[in-house]
Amino acid sequence: MADDLGRRWLFADQLGPHFLDQLRQPVLLVESRNAFARRRFHRQKAHLVLSALRHRAVELGRQARFVQADTYTAALAQIDEPLTVCGPTTHAAQRFVERQESVTVLPARGFVTSRADFANWAANRGRRRLLLEDFYRDVRVRREILMDGTTPAGGRWNFDHDNRQPPPRGSSRLGAPDPWWPEEDEIDVQVRDDLDRWERDDSVGFVGSDGPRRFAVTRSEALSALQHFVEHRLPVFGAHEDAMLAGDDWMAHSLLSAPLNLGLLDPLEVVEAAEESYRSGHAPIAAVEGFVRQIIGWRDWTWHLYWHFDQEYRTRNALNARRHVPDWFQDLDAEGNVQARCLSESLRGVRENGWAHHIQRLMILGNYALQRGWRPDQVTDWFHRSFVDGYDWVMVTNVVGMSQHADGGLLATKPYAAGGAYINKMSDYCGSCPYDPKVRVGPDACPFSAGYWWFLSRNAERLRDNHRLARPLKQLETLEGIEEVVLQEHDRGSEAP
Ligand code: FAD
Repeated sequence: MADDLGRRWLFADQLGPHFLDQLRQPVLLVESRNAFARRRFHRQKAHLVLSALRHRAVELGRQARFVQADTYTAALAQIDEPLTVCGPTTHAAQRFVERQESVTVLPARGFVTSRADFANWAANRGRRRLLLEDFYRDVRVRREILMDGTTPAGGRWNFDHDNRQPPPRGSSRLGAPDPWWPEEDEIDVQVRDDLDRWERDDSVGFVGSDGPRRFAVTRSEALSALQHFVEHRLPVFGAHEDAMLAGDDWMAHSLLSAPLNLGLLDPLEVVEAAEESYRSGHAPIAAVEGFVRQIIGWRDWTWHLYWHFDQEYRTRNALNARRHVPDWFQDLDAEGNVQARCLSESLRGVRENGWAHHIQRLMILGNYALQRGWRPDQVTDWFHRSFVDGYDWVMVTNVVGMSQHADGGLLATKPYAAGGAYINKMSDYCGSCPYDPKVRVGPDACPFSAGYWWFLSRNAERLRDNHRLARPLKQLETLEGIEEVVLQEHDRGSEAP
């Protein structure tokens, strides 16, 4: 009987059927208004979460108790029956549920591998470093994903080389078929009205614009988005995965991070759909391997490292970056003061969509913060609040470890710092930018090119033993005009470039 299973409390990022043990299991859904009052989130993020929760409540009908309250504690006070909950996705929420006597906490769901799987894998490493590539291959073998017996499909584990091409020259768009877009309904209208009212009565403040809604909020929308991606865009996903075009916000990316992180899609079904596309001859192996790597490699890996590292990890600051994230960045360049085109276009995308693709996040937004020496905890908070797919578990390792090198190299072997030459090669931003990527000093000096050397010179001592930086550090010693570059960038500091 369904009732024997007890009422399942579903957090707002546990909305898919795989968080229930039986179709008719009773459910508790909580909408906590205080969750948005504490910090300035992107308005589309608030919209997405509220819309998803409210759609789920309507879908479940009498099967769910839907409690709208200021806090989780206030909501739970209204419930007088035992609850079960799948392990939540943050340390804070985990501590909270463990403190509740009436709540039984089950293992977490929503990832391809369990925390026990990762713990076993890590324990078997002995003194060897934890490496994403090794973890990824292990999962592929164990789960028989993209494997032909003991051989990786296509004969290689890694197609990164094929997948790192610059954008096609002379074209302002990649030419991939358009992404799937949702149609808003009356629940979206109601959410928008509520958010307007909350903003008017000053109880919450947001950044960015709200709408049109770009991401799936129901299971059926999420399945449509997945199906559309696999059918139309996956075949071209790989080649230009790292490329950027000012006229193409979405390139060939899947836009599935939001529904995945809301728990609407099971990542295994996403991987299986991609593999099926390769097996049926619809999508090439380089595209499919590249995509599968993002899900079972990066997504699961990030999740496990969040729990694996101690909780102090989030406060690490190995490069002693002390500057505050400036207002123009916090406000997503709402005033339009940024002239550097790569940065202004990336911030526009975040302002309008609550989303930017991976290379904009890593090599433009994160790279700039790293070069300027902004505090990694503030950068983490900014990413978390400003993106529709931002959650604590995925931010901490991506920002502290990967993007800001604040963990001293535990996650990435070298800092993701790059100058204008890289951006020029991988995008079309530089063509009509007032700055010149080849110039380091003077009014035309590209803030990324000059900023790169400023970053290296500030951190030369700290990075001296990093053999992957041996060459640029050697170059730095004899770089013409380096004193001038350092003075200039020090003066520019955190001003909008
Ligand atoms: P695609 O390019 O289509 O990739 C497919 C899927 O792979 C994504 O949907 C996502 O689920 C997964 N994925 C790929 N890379 C990563 C990664 N590094 N970590 C976790 N999952 C990954 N991803 C988030 O889901 N939420 C975040 O808040 C987030 N913040 C990031 C911050 C920084 C500084 C960086 C460098 C990366 C961040 N990412 C984050 C990872 C990645 O940029 C996004 O998952 C991706 O851009 C989402 O767009 P998509 O769904 O079209 O991805």
